[in-house]
Amino acid sequence: MDRQYLIVGNWKMNKTPSQSANLVREIVDLRTKRGIASHVTIAICPPFTSLDRCAALLSGMDIAIGAQNLYFEEEGAFTGEISASMLKDLDLEYVILGHSERRTIFHENNELIHQKIKAAQACQLTPILCVGETLNEREANRTLATIEEQISSALNGVVDSNLVIAYEPIWAIGTGQTATPEMAQEVHQFIRKLLQKQFGEKGQRIHILYGGSMKPDNAASLLKQPDITGGLIGGASLVAESFINIVAATPHD
Ligand code: PEP
Repeated sequence: MDRQYLIVGNWKMNKTPSQSANLVREIVDLRTKRGIASHVTIAICPPFTSLDRCAALLSGMDIAIGAQNLYFEEEGAFTGEISASMLKDLDLEYVILGHSERRTIFHENNELIHQKIKAAQACQLTPILCVGETLNEREANRTLATIEEQISSALNGVVDSNLVIAYEPIWAIGTGQTATPEMAQEVHQFIRKLLQKQFGEKGQRIHILYGGSMKPDNAASLLKQPDITGGLIGGASLVAESFINIVAATPHD
């Protein structure tokens, strides 16, 4: 059997609901024209305001939907926040948590991210936990220590292996600078070992995505690395053609 991949589009704060609907239609059309690749799961993560519309358009299709954030409390006086059960009710499968933009711009720390992971899993949403080092940390030779700290605190006491990790070096996000396949593989292999330590055999099956300026022309070399099982795609997921070209770049027999 072909190795299984997961390609996720993170639309960030882009696309109104009607623009989102157009993009979904384009993705579906293009994917149908290119044929169904059974070794790849595709997911899109539009903004909250587009989720309902995208979910309706994708109902019954094998393209999954995720959100870009949630708040860990079940309900109550948390103005502006969205809970895991609200997302689950829209038939979502995934939720991106701990993205570096949330950590940096919205000051989310590892403890908050940990609470969000637990809330997502309690509602059977699959969290996509983002981890990654800054340029300073890489240059100070602290990449693996940073990753270990982010993963061990976010997954502290977590026994449910229903999760995805996205390794996103912060210096590579939206900058056009990509980690070389070898640099990325080194970190992915390290993450795989951490997951095996925590989840045993099940840790072997958790997807570890690479994110950070993945594009159609560099996707194949990254995705053929042994411990890279998919991609979290920002900019290139906003254009159907480049997103589907990345899907098409996943290696298969
Ligand atoms: C991201 O924000 O998750 C991301 C990987 O962005 P980009 O692909 O634009 O670098």
